Amino acid sequence: MRYVIALDAGTTSVRAFVYDLIGKQFVYRAQQEVGQSFPQPGWVEQDADEIYYKAAYVLNDCIRFAGANMVAGVGFTNQRETTVLWDRATGEPVCPAIGWQCRRTSAWCDALDDDTKALVRERTGLVPDAYFSASKIRWDLDHIPAARDLLSRRRLCAGTVDSWLIFRFTEGRSFVTDVTNASRTMLFNIHTLDWDDELLSRFSIPRSVLPEVRLCDARMGEMRTRDGVLALAGVAGDQQSALVGQGCLRAGEGKITYGTGLFLLFHTGEKCVSSRNGLLTTVGYALKSGVAYALEGSSFHAGSGIQWLRDGLGLLSSAAESEQVAQSVPDTGGVCFVPAFTGLGAPHWNSEARALFSGITRGTTRAHLVRAVLESIAYEARELTDCIRAEGVPLSAVRCDGGASANDFLMQFQADVLGIAVDRPAERESTALGAAMLCALSLGLTDEASLEQFRRAGQVFEPDPAVRELREQGYREYCRAVKRALM
Ligand code: ADP
Repeated sequence: MRYVIALDAGTTSVRAFVYDLIGKQFVYRAQQEVGQSFPQPGWVEQDADEIYYKAAYVLNDCIRFAGANMVAGVGFTNQRETTVLWDRATGEPVCPAIGWQCRRTSAWCDALDDDTKALVRERTGLVPDAYFSASKIRWDLDHIPAARDLLSRRRLCAGTVDSWLIFRFTEGRSFVTDVTNASRTMLFNIHTLDWDDELLSRFSIPRSVLPEVRLCDARMGEMRTRDGVLALAGVAGDQQSALVGQGCLRAGEGKITYGTGLFLLFHTGEKCVSSRNGLLTTVGYALKSGVAYALEGSSFHAGSGIQWLRDGLGLLSSAAESEQVAQSVPDTGGVCFVPAFTGLGAPHWNSEARALFSGITRGTTRAHLVRAVLESIAYEARELTDCIRAEGVPLSAVRCDGGASANDFLMQFQADVLGIAVDRPAERESTALGAAMLCALSLGLTDEASLEQFRRAGQVFEPDPAVRELREQGYREYCRAVKRALM
């Protein structure tokens, strides 16, 4: 069989890709946008059924393209933390999915006692925050009577998007997740690689509502198609999948993904490095051969700022237009932007902060605002790489991917702000590539030693020493603006 399919259930769209194992590239892709709703300030919800139906649509599209008998299996990758509750008997969602960016549970997280907060850090490697699934499950149990009713009848399932999709694709036969998705719930012990009974008990979340946790290169189930059955094999949360897809398979290698949010992941080997700088310790991937840990810095908003300029303010007709608009001015004219739409993630972990533009004058134009939003993305990444450096991890280059990495202006600006080379592969869909690689690995179609060959070289953006001081100055201004956003 020549192909594997990678299904990437992202925040703003669901995509499926046909990967050609012989040509070593994607040969077909299908995409459907998925909606988000914002019922209250700081709240983010999604329709789990919409995610499923659109995933089924793009998957079938890819199967039709490749021919069912030519497809060896389907690998999954997904937006992490977003939480779905559903009925085990009917497969019906109980309520809207709570999005990873949703801040509705931040007061609940703040109110956790110090002992529990310390336990979360120690067992899960995470900073207690509304971002992670535990508080979202708790919120649903506390506010949705139908969820409590199903719980009492032992029919409640709570899972992340991978778990939800695999449950539906296998018609309820597989209720599973993978180690990386589990590691983002705030309920999973990253040392023992199992749900943590102490945390489950403190949060009053019974183990029975959670999926079985499998390795990233495990078989997850089988999906019936018109022509037979298709193996569902290989799963990783989007950022971990991108780490694999970028070929960051050795300690010291790292990547930044520029999607809705910005995510930096740094491979730290078999060692769990716990951060003193607000970074998260997480599972990079867990294979039959062993576990790799990673340090992660995540900012909730990056490309979403560009989306807001387009959809909220009408300043852009497309996200891609931001590149040319930003380059139409030599600088931001003193304008600085902080993308704290729902608070600030690493390293600040502040739910109260809100986005701001500073330094606006009568001379400020649309181009200055657009440029400031793009620059803020690069500055966020700088904050995170400074934290990585502060952990004593040296950085010599970083690999980049995600929707906004298509923007050459942003990539060059990023290299200048970081002072290191920014390496963008030919295939920017590293997230999907990681899922394809894990699927191939799971099905025995490749081996670990050959994984690195999946990544094809693209363009390397080198830092320009001539603008170094200018970029340092820009970064200092950004840090001042962040302080204001935190006030
Ligand atoms: P996700 O997986 O989080 O849905 P993607 O990796 O698909 O995200 O990236 C989409 C994001 O990237 C959107 O927020 C969009 O605004 C932004 N984006 C896409 N293309 C560009 C571009 N050329 N310049 C800047 N931002 C872009």
